[in-house]
Amino acid sequence: MGKNTKIAWAHHTFNPWYGCQRVGPGCDHCYAEAWAKRYKAVEWGSSTLRQLSSPANWKTPIAWNNAAGRKGTRYRVFCASLADVFDNEAPIKWRMNLFSLIAASAST
Ligand code: SF4
Repeated sequence: MGKNTKIAWAHHTFNPWYGCQRVGPGCDHCYAEAWAKRYKAVEWGSSTLRQLSSPANWKTPIAWNNAAGRKGTRYRVFCASLADVFDNEAPIKWRMNLFSLIAASAST
């Protein structure tokens, strides 16, 4: 288990942004939507604004990758536990920035 997650298979969780929308029956018990409603963190649904996480947060995957490199290991990162990477309401630029970050943090 990782430092900032209780998810057994992940060392870390990283949310590039928050928010999503229901797209089908698989979303009926969405953890992220329940979280958003509970903490009033972000409005859920179509045509609502997604919330980009902070610049400091966006730096954490590189720091984790560097730490993993020093240890000679690789970390498993759960990306977007409170959003969906392919949510079509998220700006394309955010997704492109995320893909660049993944590429930059995929080497050890
Ligand atoms: S985060 Fe996943 S399960 Fe939740 S509403 Fe979005 S697509 Fe559906």
